[in-house]
Amino acid sequence: MKFKKTDLNEVLKTLAREYTVFAPIVENEEKKFMPWAESKDVEMEGLNTIKPPKDVLFPNVEKMYRYKMGLEGFIEEIFPEDTKRILFGIRPCDMRSIDSMDKVFLTKEYVDSYYAKRRDDATIVAFGCTEAGRTCFCESMGLNPNDAPSADVMMNVSADGEDYVLEARTEKGEELVKKLEGLITDGGEAKKDTKCSLVINKAEDLDKKLAKMFEHPIWDKVTKGCIGCGTCTFVCPTCYCFDIDSENYGAEGCKYRCWDSCMFSDYTRLAGGANPRPTKKERLRNRYMHKLSYFNERYGETLCVGCGRCVEKCPAHLDISEFIEKASAAELGKEDK
Ligand code: SF4
Ligand code: SF4
Repeated sequence: MKFKKTDLNEVLKTLAREYTVFAPIVENEEKKFMPWAESKDVEMEGLNTIKPPKDVLFPNVEKMYRYKMGLEGFIEEIFPEDTKRILFGIRPCDMRSIDSMDKVFLTKEYVDSYYAKRRDDATIVAFGCTEAGRTCFCESMGLNPNDAPSADVMMNVSADGEDYVLEARTEKGEELVKKLEGLITDGGEAKKDTKCSLVINKAEDLDKKLAKMFEHPIWDKVTKGCIGCGTCTFVCPTCYCFDIDSENYGAEGCKYRCWDSCMFSDYTRLAGGANPRPTKKERLRNRYMHKLSYFNERYGETLCVGCGRCVEKCPAHLDISEFIEKASAAELGKEDK
């Protein structure tokens, strides 16, 4: 199935009649996923967005319940509204990061009802990359920049560059494609030849090797320069930690959750002031170990999808791809066995 590139706005307009459609939109010279409107400037091709689309399913700040104390008191949960949404045009690395968030929020006998509601209401149209950024290394992490296997619909540019080729892969995807009757036609050959700009040497068993490297001297070297700003965690599509706090107005208030960062000293500070991760070394070690070893142990896959965002945006030029190469090649000392 395919539709003409020149019909993209018509396709989005049709979908927007029934769904809130989040698409890659350029505003103030920055591309990010925002609700589509006819006045917006959609840019499907080119580089991926710096801000990942994860906030569509897991907002930066979200009210969980409101309450009132006293005789007239109550507690009332605040659930996400009933909004059918489409995430239109997310890249394979971001689709794979949603697969990881699904595991965290929906499996192992725990279901996060807020995430579950948004995820149930979402249909995801992934888009094969046409260009890789200088820090993209998803292929070295086992992904394919041209394909997102778990998407509801996979979309690629056609071999002749004139069309977008679609493949519906789930019931939700088929339902979405049916709404485009009249705009789509049969056939179309997808162009799937995008390669990553950055190729790194990653050891097959890096997760297991890292599990033995907790005391390795590599951590002292790799932390140099980190200023603990948390940028790496906020731009990462797979970071999902949050804090819960409350906002009070007299006897009334609400509990909310907001993104948190393991790179902040407060993150592990306990009542009384003790901190099990007292310096940046312990905090960065935890971040890299979580991405490359702990998550594998719990869920059987790595939590770094090689999107390169943290590499691109770190003000101190710390680079997880360099770390992966160095750790893969590192000699284990006596303390690491
Ligand atoms: S973005 Fe860089 S400097 Fe900031 S916390 Fe992350 S690693 Fe440290
Ligand atoms: S750790 Fe860095 S490269 Fe890996 S998924 Fe997160 S932002 Fe992307």
